[in-house]
Amino acid sequence: MITAEAYAELIHRSKELGVLNSCAAVLAWDQQTYMPTNGASLRGDQMALLASFAHQKLTDPKIGDLLAAIEGSDLVADLDAPEAANVRELRRSFNRATKLPQTLVEELARVTTQAQQVWQEAKPKSDFASFRPWLEKVVALKRQEAAAVGFQDHPYNALIEEYEPGTTVAELKELFAGLTRDLVPLIRKIANSLKKPDRSVLDRDYPVDRQKVFAEAAATAFGFNFASGRLDTTSHPFCSGIGPGDCRITTRYNPRFFGESFFGVLHETGHALYEQNLPAEHFGTPLGSACSFGIHESQSRLWENQVGRGRPFWDHFFPRLKQTFPAALGEVSRDAFYAAVNDVRPSLIRVEADEATYNLHIAMRFELELGLLSGDLAVADLPGAWNDRVKALLELDVPDHARGCLQDIHWSFGGIGYFPTYTLGNLYAAQLMDAARRDSGGGSTLDGAFRHGDFQSLRLWLVSHIHRHGQRYRAGELCRRATGSPLSPAPFISYLNEKYCPLYGVC
Ligand code: ZN
Repeated sequence: MITAEAYAELIHRSKELGVLNSCAAVLAWDQQTYMPTNGASLRGDQMALLASFAHQKLTDPKIGDLLAAIEGSDLVADLDAPEAANVRELRRSFNRATKLPQTLVEELARVTTQAQQVWQEAKPKSDFASFRPWLEKVVALKRQEAAAVGFQDHPYNALIEEYEPGTTVAELKELFAGLTRDLVPLIRKIANSLKKPDRSVLDRDYPVDRQKVFAEAAATAFGFNFASGRLDTTSHPFCSGIGPGDCRITTRYNPRFFGESFFGVLHETGHALYEQNLPAEHFGTPLGSACSFGIHESQSRLWENQVGRGRPFWDHFFPRLKQTFPAALGEVSRDAFYAAVNDVRPSLIRVEADEATYNLHIAMRFELELGLLSGDLAVADLPGAWNDRVKALLELDVPDHARGCLQDIHWSFGGIGYFPTYTLGNLYAAQLMDAARRDSGGGSTLDGAFRHGDFQSLRLWLVSHIHRHGQRYRAGELCRRATGSPLSPAPFISYLNEKYCPLYGVC
């Protein structure tokens, strides 16, 4: 078979798999939004059938033949060519899917389903003892997975490959070391500052129907296309990029707390802008797919934090917010509100952490995961190791496991290697924002536009430097091309210092 034909056949198969996966995505969205409770059993059958079709398609030996026919040919000789990127990433997913023995895949699915159930019951009771044997099984299976996939240096490298291809333990260790070194003293200074924002202005009556209108207005201002997307309500907010013309985000409204839904919507809108601006003509292929979990998270955190918790954003939106919620915000000043949404204080729960302390939660999880996977840390010793690190990094005592090592769902579903992508997202976001400001003629130009409610020059910069490339480049290379430098914690640290030093009167 000539190379061009083999490539066309490979792309055809990849696109069909993309359509099949998008069907599962619609069903998954429906399951979390509108499906009646009694539909759960049939939905389980539907999802399992689609998953087995997808697995058959992905691991079809014909895919291996097609890849072998193309690899080494002129078509992919230029490693930066779009075809080379498609072949590189399809090879990666084919290898990963075919190297894992079917028995291991089934055992992982079975154990993690049960582990999640056990975790859900154990967490509210702070009952680590009942979760422990399940976590031991999960860790053992993830080590088997790493061995089956193959790795260099550390089994963790095989697991992070699933979320952040090309990133290594060595790189992450260096990033987290630099980040922790600079973050800890800054957070201490903020914690010791006598200036404390009044967070209670966020805990007032914010009628849900008005929250919805206000959140939709902000999402629209950012560029979310409601003709190609929806915003619905769920218990666990998410963004589902079903495919071209269909990207759905969800939120959870709290009538007594403004921050939860609003910043959640900004976050999911950031994910959605990425999905809505991927090149539609490449849908179903790597070129039409998001680069990595870390880059995806950079988009959500850039819009949520860098923009949505910024002063220029509130210069524009605060007068409108006050009009929308006159009872809650009648006497509150813009400065007081800005300080309240940027309150920094060490806390026990990762998902409630502010943007400064958040990364310390991730740094310790990364370190613990490395220990669990290498065998240096036994699961039985996890609670003690967890509590020691919280004390060392955040200077807090952990009162119970619910607020300690049982707080996150990730380990119960086997998501070891996932946590670092959150911090990578924060770091990429700061570095991308710096580059976007520089390319837009300095910070004041973008900020001036934000003050007028205009966010489109930033969105277009992201489309051109990130979104349109899909998986053409790995995350590190994409960052280097977009910003001119490899990923570094420095822009994030500068961003925090510039924002929080004046706010807290420190530094
Ligand atoms: Zn996210």
